[in-house]
Order: sequence, then C-alpha cells, then structure tokens
Amino acid sequence: MQLSKISIGVGDRFAHQGEAQLKAIMRARQSGLDICPVWNKSNREHIYVHTHPSDVRREADAAVKKLSYTGKYFVDADHINFNTVEPFVETADFFTLDVAAFIGKPSTDEAVSEFVASCQKYIGELKVPGIEKPIVVTEDLLKSVAGKFLAATQHASEIYKYLVDKKGKGSFITEVSMDEVETPQTPVDMLFILKMLADKGVPAQTIAPKFTGRFNKGVDYRGDLKQFAREFEDDVLVIDYAVKEFGLPAELKLSIHSGSDKFSIYPIMAAIIAKYNKGLHLKTAGTTWLEEVIGLAKAGGEALEVAKEIYANSHDKKDELCAPYADVIDIDSSQLPTVEEVNAWTSEKFVNSLRHIPGHPDYNSNFRQLIHVAYKVAADMGKKYTYMLEKYSDIVGQCVEENIYDRHLKRLFDL
Ligand SMILES: [Zn+2]
Repeated sequence: MQLSKISIGVGDRFAHQGEAQLKAIMRARQSGLDICPVWNKSNREHIYVHTHPSDVRREADAAVKKLSYTGKYFVDADHINFNTVEPFVETADFFTLDVAAFIGKPSTDEAVSEFVASCQKYIGELKVPGIEKPIVVTEDLLKSVAGKFLAATQHASEIYKYLVDKKGKGSFITEVSMDEVETPQTPVDMLFILKMLADKGVPAQTIAPKFTGRFNKGVDYRGDLKQFAREFEDDVLVIDYAVKEFGLPAELKLSIHSGSDKFSIYPIMAAIIAKYNKGLHLKTAGTTWLEEVIGLAKAGGEALEVAKEIYANSHDKKDELCAPYADVIDIDSSQLPTVEEVNAWTSEKFVNSLRHIPGHPDYNSNFRQLIHVAYKVAADMGKKYTYMLEKYSDIVGQCVEENIYDRHLKRLFDL
C-alpha cells in the first residue's frame, strides 16, 4: 500500500466537510497534481468531540462515493501509541506512531552496544550525497543518539508488530512521528533514527520530525527561514541516502505536522522537493474547523450568533482550552477582543478577524489561535452546532474548499 507522491492530511473535527475537502483535492488532481487525501484524527480529538475512529472512515467513504472519486485515499489514526491504537485498528489504514514520549527513555546497555556495533562502518567522516559537509560520526555520537532515540524506535516497532499481527503486512501506511517535542531533531538524528527503524523492521513510509522554529496552531511559521530551509533540504537528502543504505521503502518521505497554515515555509518546501523530485505529506488538520466558524460567521443571522457564542464560551474557558496545547500556541491575551466587542461585530468583521490573510488589517492571530483550540466548545454545543453546519453547508463547504485549494495547495504547487 502506497500513498501518492504528494499527500495532504485533512482533519475534520466534526466529520461534516469530507466532500468539501475532497472537492479541493479533485480540483488539484484535475490540474495534474499527483495528490491523495488522508483524513486524520487523533485520539484526543475523538475524545473531545465524542466521536469514534469508525466515524472518520464512514465520512471518507461517503465523500468518495458521492463525488465518484477514483483516486487513492486513506484514514489516519493520528498520533497513536500502544495504549490508544486499539479502537483505530479496524477502520484506519494509515497509522501515525507517535513515539515522542519515549525520546530520551533508557534502553538496556546491551541494546545500546548492539546499535553502536552495527554502526562501526559509519565511524569517521560520513558523506551523504548532496550534503556539503561530511557528518563526523564518533562512538560518543552514536551512544548519544542511542540514548535519545533507541527506546522511541523500539516503541514504534512494538506498535508496528501489533498492527501487522492484527491487520496483516502491507495493508496499511506507517508513519513515525516525533514532532510533539521541544527540541528539534537534526538531520544527523534523522539519519540514525532511520537506521534504527530499518534495523527493527519498521517500514516507515512517512516520518515527522520536529523542525526548528515554532509551528503554532493555525498561524504562520515563526523562526529562521534560512535555517529551516537548510534542515529541510538536509533531511530530504538524508532520507534519500537512508532508503538506499538501510533498505527502507523507496517512497519514504517527510511528513510535516504543520499545525496548519505555515505559509512562509510552503515555497521553501515546494522548491526543495521539486529540486530532488521527492514527495511530501502535509498535515493541516485544524484549518477545516476554523473554516466552519468562518463560514457560519459569513452566513450571518443565527449562524453568526453561533460563531459569537463559540467565542464567548472560548473566552471564558481560555485557560482550560489552551492547557493541552501550551507548546503550540502563543496567545497574547491583551490582544484578544472582549466578548462584548465581538458580539457587536458584523459578519465581515468576524470573518476578516479570523480568516488567515496575513497583512489584512482585521486579521487577529490571537483570536484565531484561541478559536483553533476551542473546538471542544462547539462539541459541547452538540446538535446546536452540527445543525448549523448542515443548514449552512453550502457556504461553509465553499469556505473549506477554497481554503484548502487556494490558500494551501495553490501556495505549494503550480496549479
Ligand atoms: Zn503532529
């Protein structure tokens, strides 16, 4: 089982936008882009929204049927570990093995020695084609890398073996993610992580490292663009080397857990993957939920009132909503509008404050980040929220489609 060369992870918290999302993908495919959608939803999102992994499968299958889509598509058990994987086994065919929590956990002396011994041929100056400076590999470096990543890759192999046992080899896509940590992994880390995965028989097809810089939810990248470009390019070259050297799947590619809307790094990534003719997986999960709120605000009347109610409740529960996302949001509370202010907003003002048009005078990234993490508030509104989505599905669907196509795909690819 293989992804298309380019794949995009589309999250859909409330499982109402499958068709709108697929329409955007189909438009890109009509323009000749080899892209497939992957509907991803994490265990945490399922808990907050009170959904089951099978709901995502049902949504994806229904959208595909309705639009007579004939390309590949997948359902991703996003950020699962050994404790949370079980409910996803039956209906997912893409598994993101999140091993971040195991980084830095100890391994046995025996396992470390075995890894170091297996790397003897790389000690000295290791040349990775395309990377100018050779990597200086020492015993100490290998021990340090083993200390950081051996337990994490071991955990990945345990989940992978469990899945093979349950689903059969080759019947699902394997992603390994380490992005939800503070310290970025360097290209040298990446090289040896891939060696460990290959040694342990994990045929990763996508890998999600933590890159340098801030990937805050729903807003643009913050960090050193030049350094990001160098790291990203080195990772692409390291992956190419690792595939040949360690025998990993030829289609192995980077997965960018973008937290949505990292517009300033899109052209950088696009240029590098085009230069080396490589693929990419881009996860953009939360954007769709934001477009729902934008669509409701745009619809006006009772729908705008619901959008305002979501903000009022989010404002009241700010600390509770932000806590699980502390590492990936930066909200300056002094820049948040008051509930009274928002309640007086027109449709246009609400839409322009929330929609991510960098440079627009009304755009408020603090407002946007708070709404981004506030989907639990809408979930708590239950039918009241989903009824609005259904009643205003045309306008909401248009926002979702336009966002994925115009703001994401068009920025990344020549469409
Ligand atoms: Zn992630």
